Amino acid sequence: MLKDKFGRQIHDLRISVTDRCNFACVYCKSAVTDDYLPQPELLTWDEFLSVARILARLGIRKVRVTGGEPLLRPGVVDFIARLGEIEGLDDIALTTNGYLLPEMAQELAAAGAPRVTVSLDSLRPEKFAKLTRAPASGEKVVAGIDAALAAGLAPVKVNIVLVRGFNDDELLEFARLARRRNVMVRLIEYMPLDGDRAWNRALVVTAQEVVETIHPMFPLLEIPRRFPSETALRYRFADGQGEIGIIAPISVPFCGQCSRIRLTADGKIRTCLFSLKEHDLRHLLRNGAGDEDLAQFVMKVVGEKEPGHRINEPDFVQPDRTMLSIGG
Ligand code: SAM
Repeated sequence: MLKDKFGRQIHDLRISVTDRCNFACVYCKSAVTDDYLPQPELLTWDEFLSVARILARLGIRKVRVTGGEPLLRPGVVDFIARLGEIEGLDDIALTTNGYLLPEMAQELAAAGAPRVTVSLDSLRPEKFAKLTRAPASGEKVVAGIDAALAAGLAPVKVNIVLVRGFNDDELLEFARLARRRNVMVRLIEYMPLDGDRAWNRALVVTAQEVVETIHPMFPLLEIPRRFPSETALRYRFADGQGEIGIIAPISVPFCGQCSRIRLTADGKIRTCLFSLKEHDLRHLLRNGAGDEDLAQFVMKVVGEKEPGHRINEPDFVQPDRTMLSIGG
């Protein structure tokens, strides 16, 4: 029922439940500003759930809970449990920096928790701390991944944003991680959504470079996509020991198959990560709109979804929001 004018069916929703984060990753959050949204501007858990129910009736099947750092917002575990009760939502996932997983993994599992993706951009503790601008974060995140695995939150995915000159020298170690641990490693191209506006094309490590670096040491075989809107290019190791995925929005854009919309913590619908225009659902929610009005609004908004992200166009404009406040 949610179809855009290019015929793309929308069935994935990403909900950013907070714009706060306990890390300040160099490719994401600005080093200088810390201007978080005031609490009253955030949607309440009940408001998020109302929107999720309406969207499930319109054909949303998958919800990813993200942020900011979603595990920082009190009540998130109960929210995830209640999301899981919504008819029609058959896939709930969580993206986290993993720092709080040692304390929260069991609780999440008990709440019927979802698939978990943990971000871990370097396997070298000192470098990781520099990247997150948070001391001792690497040890805590690795412990978080172990806690997630021990709690049975499978499959655990590990997101790694590649930044040239920063962690591209670890590609073979990332491949070893995918081969040795029971985790699905996802290598992601750095996108122009950083708060410091430091992104430039030369910092992007492309999918082709990743394959050319890993393949001679650990031969890779491409795995066909399971479904057209799958974001990752997947490869399995030819010797049968695990697989890796590469998310390459810049060198191999997948906008033509995009099935996603996003809901920000302050209740704005974004039809693309790189949208320059947002659609204010909170205003409607808080001014007496009924379910039918909200459904009509979302259908109209989806109709306006952009054909693609335009990063590779000469007149590309980086959105004001960073990945932190959009929800990755
Ligand atoms: N705090 C959680 C985390 O760290 O996973 C969830 C929010 S974070 C914004 C979601 C994902 O976006 C993370 O995997 C992060 O690495 C990725 N991300 C952030 N900025 C990015 C950028 N400029 N390019 C590509 N991925 C980015």
